[in-house]
Amino acid sequence: MKVESKSKIIDLSRSLQEKVSEIEFLQESFTEIGSELDLDKVFKIVSERARTLINADTLLIPLIDDDGQAYTYRGGAGVNADEIVGQSLPLEFGVCGWVWKHKKPWWQGMLNELSDEEKNRWEQEAGNLILVPLQGKRQFLGGIAGLNKADGSNFDKKDLNLLQLFASIVSVAIENAMAVKSMEVSHELNEEYRLRLEILNKQLIDSSKELERLSLYDSVTGLPNRSLFHDRLSRDITEAQRYDGSIGILLIDIDSFKDINDTHGHEYGDGLLNRIARRFDDAIQNNETLARLGGDEFVVILPGHDQAGATKRARQFLNSLKEAFSLQQNNIVVNASIGVAVYPQHGTTISVLLSHADFAMYEAKNSKIDICTYNQDNDHLAQGHLAMVSDVRQALKEKQFELYYQPKISTQDGRVVSAEALGRWHSHSRGNVPPTIFIQVLEQNGLINEYTYWALTTALSQAKCWQGDFKKHDDDIASMRIAVNLSPQTLMHPDFKKNIDKIIKNKEDGRLLTFEITENLLLSEFERLTEVLKHICDLGVELSIDDYGTGYSSLARLRQLPVNELKIDKSFIKEVVNNKEDEVVVHSTIELAHNLGLSVVAEGVESQQARELLIRLGCDTLQGFLFSKPLSKHEFKKFLDTQ
Ligand code: C2E
Ligand code: MG
Ligand code: MG
Repeated sequence: MKVESKSKIIDLSRSLQEKVSEIEFLQESFTEIGSELDLDKVFKIVSERARTLINADTLLIPLIDDDGQAYTYRGGAGVNADEIVGQSLPLEFGVCGWVWKHKKPWWQGMLNELSDEEKNRWEQEAGNLILVPLQGKRQFLGGIAGLNKADGSNFDKKDLNLLQLFASIVSVAIENAMAVKSMEVSHELNEEYRLRLEILNKQLIDSSKELERLSLYDSVTGLPNRSLFHDRLSRDITEAQRYDGSIGILLIDIDSFKDINDTHGHEYGDGLLNRIARRFDDAIQNNETLARLGGDEFVVILPGHDQAGATKRARQFLNSLKEAFSLQQNNIVVNASIGVAVYPQHGTTISVLLSHADFAMYEAKNSKIDICTYNQDNDHLAQGHLAMVSDVRQALKEKQFELYYQPKISTQDGRVVSAEALGRWHSHSRGNVPPTIFIQVLEQNGLINEYTYWALTTALSQAKCWQGDFKKHDDDIASMRIAVNLSPQTLMHPDFKKNIDKIIKNKEDGRLLTFEITENLLLSEFERLTEVLKHICDLGVELSIDDYGTGYSSLARLRQLPVNELKIDKSFIKEVVNNKEDEVVVHSTIELAHNLGLSVVAEGVESQQARELLIRLGCDTLQGFLFSKPLSKHEFKKFLDTQ
């Protein structure tokens, strides 16, 4: 990967990381607040949480009194809050009065909407104060105010957005708790009221679900982001499989967008992207999906379209750009290049389809034709593909595949704690074919399930065999788990549960296995996924997230699933000793995983220095050529004997 794009990815993953922790923090807050009906406690939680959220010195909750004549600071946290809470002021007084009147938030960006008199009065301290309205379901309540940013800077747009989001949701909880308080006062806690409260609190929990949804949309254009794109395409593929349908995929890349950004600045670029997105969105029909993959790349899913149909639609998207965009007194004409790939003809998995559409898009750019369909003959990697498919099919039938085993070593005592089973194929005509190649062929040709069940059966019987060998003299090795890599396709197949029940007969079997699954699997339909993973977990099998850091996963999801282990991808481990950024990523991943109760494996450990650093960073288990390459079952037995 180029250094530039790598650092872009790191930036992106940092901002995603930040977003994810904000969402997690908000979700946690809502769960805590939603389960509390004691008014004083609600004020306390709200003010403390809000104060942390926007990093304010002081946080106050001014609410309008019952008689509507004044407002009173009912809750607060931080500097001087104790002295202020309890004080009442006339309704029109100060910035609060302004917010009550206009029902709008106050922050520094509000200054130009003020009358000259108000402006003179408040300009000086505008940046130190932020105040957002609290609008209850039944009435206007008051607001949440932050005073002085703890780091001395001014409150900005991001603080405003976060605090508004927070206020819009906690207002329900505050209103509920106020209702309970007044009912307690009048001793009229009747059933109807209680039910109403339950409904309102349920709304609160729904709002927090809404937050997860927010993380599925791109903030610049409001279009589905890459995660949601994955979800939609996998749904459409399942559907197409059922009805033998086809799906067109268009990868649209705006030409020379970098130049536009460089000349006019990023804000202008974002504005333009937004306008382009609107044009494309207008061209979208019923069940199609338009998503932004990032940068200047858009993708369109066209269910029910074959190659000719998809190309025709591609032309319509290009036509929608014909008219110039007029933006900030500039007229700007935008062109794009489109790569087309079609399911199932050009691939059957999301990653293959995307990479083929990407390949076609580059063809289009290079040859200066605006639309290009994927053509295997130009794809040198894919040449000879058909012969390969037939060889792989043969290999499966004739049981030419083998499993090799690579030890995973504990950082505690340097002993083998488990082994990863890795597929090997020595083809008579081709020599050794790497698993990355043949697994992909198996996946693309509907053969992966058969292979995976073979691998599982083989690994389990091998584990039992070693269990017998070591039972008497080494309990640890006798109970060692073997990790098998599972393709998402197999795991999400409707027959998966039935099939593994046939292989893993009881918990004794399950305790000898770990399934390694990839991060992107976590983007699958959540309810199905939870059900499948829970079934695996009930069988005693452990779950490990493989190649962590290379895909897209939501931490919020990770926490809700019965996962035991994260394997940090070897691309981060390779340079961890020399590259500070990789070290930071690895370190924070380890901390994060430990916070979520997961253990961490580093794969691809090749040097003594890497081993020492990873131990220092708190890694639990190591795997790599430093200890051993993947070994045949006989070699692996010898390796265990020397332990
Ligand atoms: P993986 O599951 O991430 O497996 C780890 C890969 O890293 C293995 O490559 C292993 O040989 C390699 N490796 C281990 N230590 C080191 C090291 O210190 N340095 C370097 N450079 N590499 C190291 P391998 O065996 O070529 O497998 C590649 C990928 O193919 C696997 O990645 C896995 O995704 C897939 N694969 C292999 N066997 C199977 C299988 O039975 N089923 C499925 N679904 N996928 C498999
Ligand atoms: Mg693996
Ligand atoms: Mg891996």
